[in-house]
Amino acid sequence: MQHERDPYRTLDLVYQKLDLMTDQVEKNMQIFRRSQERELELLRAADLQTLLGTFTGYLRESYGLQCVTVMIADPEHEVRHLLRTANGQPELLPDVHFVESLTGITPRYTALRQPWTGPFVAADHQLLFPGATGISSIAIIPLIHQGALFGSINFASPDKDRFTRQHATDFLAHLGVIATFALENVVNRARLLRSGFTDVLTGWHNRRYLQMRLTEELARAARDSTCLVELMIDIDHFKRVNDTWGHAAGDRVLAELAQRIESQVRASDIAARYGGEEFVVLMPATTTLAGRRLAERIRAAVAATPIDVGRNESVTITTSIGIASISPDRGARDLKTLGDSLLARADVALYRAKSEGRDRIVVDDSEGDQP
Ligand code: GH3
Ligand code: MG
Ligand code: MG
Repeated sequence: MQHERDPYRTLDLVYQKLDLMTDQVEKNMQIFRRSQERELELLRAADLQTLLGTFTGYLRESYGLQCVTVMIADPEHEVRHLLRTANGQPELLPDVHFVESLTGITPRYTALRQPWTGPFVAADHQLLFPGATGISSIAIIPLIHQGALFGSINFASPDKDRFTRQHATDFLAHLGVIATFALENVVNRARLLRSGFTDVLTGWHNRRYLQMRLTEELARAARDSTCLVELMIDIDHFKRVNDTWGHAAGDRVLAELAQRIESQVRASDIAARYGGEEFVVLMPATTTLAGRRLAERIRAAVAATPIDVGRNESVTITTSIGIASISPDRGARDLKTLGDSLLARADVALYRAKSEGRDRIVVDDSEGDQP
């Protein structure tokens, strides 16, 4: 016997299904619109301070989360300095964590390329949420620039079902891409705001200035047949200062060191902050012996008096100094290469000073004039 279909019932089922689908489409549209709103809010942030605040404040409220933290790899302390330059205050962003390295933040953290969602395990995830309690589930959204991970935005919820291993992560992945873009944008803007040749922390000239002057001084040395001497000065075990007293104390030490070097150099010398805790002094028209004497005065002036690091504490620091010199030929043409090799030789000498025990001066003897 043939099965009789009730056409009205079939139609009813079709309508029910259509209703369900319409509901789902409407829900998806809502999610999409809300995601878009959030992403626009990130793109609206005009500076670093505002953007980081948008991550930890706005996203937390908008997603109804317990907390949102940001982890950023900042090995050269550049982002923190940019934040200050733009009148931002890192200490007003307690949920933003800057680290020197991303290794060991969570298991397999550095391999993260897609958002991770799942249960919060204190032993694995506490570093992402320092001091937070009552977290049950989390989402880790990696921030990836040119294929490399440089940090993450981290969502925490007290609800264990909020982020599960099955959670669809494509919206979160998209948010990560927009967040990276927004960050890059404000960082670049902050870099532009910083004046071209000045180091903000020490008020000294920066590496760009040094490189420009190095070429000029080489040209002069070639023209006048004089010797140009370079001192490369690097703080010994500076990482310990940061690790023990914090970044701000490290900055104070750097600023004080710059002043102590400055008190020793002649007006005709060119001093610059070359990198994080590396300083360079160029001495035109002089001898390696004079360079060694200056280096010795700098080394002694730095080590003689402890530097105040706040909280009634002070630290004695030492420096290692590498020296190289050059007397370019009259017709020397490729000044850029000459300059690079002078810097490299001073660096090799500095490296030797480090490996021979630090707190000392080593003169490169591969080239240049001899005392
Ligand atoms: P060494 O004796 O071999 O030179 O050891 P070190 O610890 O001084 O050298 P290392 O190069 O390992 O560490 C330098 C540290 O300086 C690491 C980096 O985080 C820190 N640093 C770089 N720039 C800044 C800055 O502007 N401010 C602060 N506070 N720290 C900085
Ligand atoms: Mg160094
Ligand atoms: Mg050092």
